[in-house]
Amino acid sequence: MNTLNQQYEEKVRPCIDLIDSLRSLGVEKDLALPAIAVIGDQSSGKSSVLEALSGVALPRGSGIVTRCPLELKMKRKKEGKKWYGKISYQDCEEKIENPTDVEKKIREAQNKMAGVGVGISDDLISLEICSPVVPDLTLIDLPGIARVAVKGQPENIGDQIKRLIQKFIKRQETISLVVVPCNVDIATTEALKMAQEMDPDGERTLVILTKPDLVDKGTEETVVKTVHNEVIHLKKGYMIVRCRGQKDIKDKVSLTEAIEREKAFFNDHVHFQTLYDEGHATVPKLAEKLTLTLVHHIKRSLPQLEEQIEEKLEQTQAELERYGTGPPTDDTERRVLLIYKVTAFTQDAISLTTGEECGDQLNVFSTLRREFGKWNAHLDHSGKNLNKRIEREVEAYEEKYRGRELPGFINYKTFEVMVKERIKHLEEPAVLRLKEIGDVVRKVFIQLAHSSFIGFPNLITTAEARIKSIMQQKESTAEAMLRTQFKMELLVSFQDRTYSSCSSLSDRMREAEEKEDKCKGTNFHKESSIVYSMDNHATLQELMLHIKSYYKIVSQHLAHQIPLVIRYQILQESAIQLQSEMLQMFQDKPKLELLLSEDYDIGRKRVALQSRLKHLMKAHTYLVEF
Ligand code: GDP
Ligand code: MG
Repeated sequence: MNTLNQQYEEKVRPCIDLIDSLRSLGVEKDLALPAIAVIGDQSSGKSSVLEALSGVALPRGSGIVTRCPLELKMKRKKEGKKWYGKISYQDCEEKIENPTDVEKKIREAQNKMAGVGVGISDDLISLEICSPVVPDLTLIDLPGIARVAVKGQPENIGDQIKRLIQKFIKRQETISLVVVPCNVDIATTEALKMAQEMDPDGERTLVILTKPDLVDKGTEETVVKTVHNEVIHLKKGYMIVRCRGQKDIKDKVSLTEAIEREKAFFNDHVHFQTLYDEGHATVPKLAEKLTLTLVHHIKRSLPQLEEQIEEKLEQTQAELERYGTGPPTDDTERRVLLIYKVTAFTQDAISLTTGEECGDQLNVFSTLRREFGKWNAHLDHSGKNLNKRIEREVEAYEEKYRGRELPGFINYKTFEVMVKERIKHLEEPAVLRLKEIGDVVRKVFIQLAHSSFIGFPNLITTAEARIKSIMQQKESTAEAMLRTQFKMELLVSFQDRTYSSCSSLSDRMREAEEKEDKCKGTNFHKESSIVYSMDNHATLQELMLHIKSYYKIVSQHLAHQIPLVIRYQILQESAIQLQSEMLQMFQDKPKLELLLSEDYDIGRKRVALQSRLKHLMKAHTYLVEF
């Protein structure tokens, strides 16, 4: 295992795990994982540093080697999983079976993208490596900054490369490693200037001095001063590393061996040994420092996550509570559970219909109020229409017959039919109210069954079937009652007419009769003479009054009676019957087992919630421990 990887496992891994688990819970909006980009002049040793850090061999050599930005995405797989690589660029995507093919594939890709030779391309080559021995980290190798264009390169190659580099290092999640060989003057380094531009505070910029073995004799002290941060001061400071040179590659020195050699190099070096002792030298130390930077970077984004996690924890706990613990294994306990559940359900159903509080925030009374409100409005409206019609008709009569004295012409029947028709018109709307309320009550009952019997599908199905049949039964009883009520109201109409003609009308008749008797002293022609002498106008007014008040009486009945029938049948009776039918289920022992068998999905959901809870708690612990 290489050094960064080791550091990573110990320090960054928990952060990454945390972020992963958060991500899988959807707690945070894609928190960008840190990427490490290396920038520097051509052949300064960028690829070599990346290689040493990641343990993955990259194309390297003299001249321009990295000609496209190469994103090396490392993904850690579980122990024992096979190494797996994938290279993708433009429209191509290719699997890489063998780690030793990586270099070749990258060269091929570069040739395709930037042409064979010395050109560069802005397009990204993405290399994904999945293995149990790599960290979850993205490293970006960028083309080196060329000072002058070589043959075959465009004049502005320098600008092109700079723009490309800027694109990467301006990202907040990118940590810039500025690679400067020990044998050049750091003050003239373009890459460092660029990094400072993009990261003025120096929070995510680190300078790596390379090729200490190639240092110009006599300049060693300057190098030591530079690393001591005495030449150009940088917040994050400097590191110095020695990577595999061309000769090491030829001699097939492995990356692990190279680390040993590096250690020996610094340890034995007259000038650089101090740097080693101070912890400023070697790839492992660089890895350590990078790790700290990464951890720092991740930590900074954590506080806001803690809140979100706590919120999710609460939610999950509440949800888990709703799922309960599942049916008990013991027979008696199971029976008790069933009794408890069914009793609670039927009591809730009764509470619902009496307008008491019921645990589930279900409510039928707002619907009742609304529907009965509609009903009253309908009655009023219909009454007003009727009045207008009668008045119009009466006016027409008067207009036509005023002053004439025709016997028995005032046809009471006309008005009676009018009223009866109006009343008939109320019947269907009343039945409609009943159906609508019935629908709502059925739905609410079913909803209640669902929430009361969560996890017990058989119980839900049984309850649902009962609810449906009871409601249907009660609805048709209620409908019959309503229709009867309307028939009765029409009967009242007859009585009401009797009343009006016998009492008030005949009173007035008798008065008139008596007057006449006094004058003539005879009863002869009594009947016709009364009618003749009656004032048409007065009669009409009186009739109108009776008819209006008759409608008023009926409408009062209906305003009272219809809601009563509905409430009685649809609410009270149905809830009571539901209770008795549900409780009867306890009699059927073999059926109990079936009723209490739990939903497979619910069991699974509970397990999922439990693991989610564990996950969250783990994430929370991580966070708190940080
Ligand atoms: P890049 O162009 O910046 O990616 O540079 P490379 O990583 O390809 O390195 C350029 C050359 O320098 C290669 O031949 C490397 O082997 C060599 N090189 C890199 N680091 C060292 C070092 O520390 N010492 C020596 N002697 N050679 C090195
Ligand atoms: Mg390179």
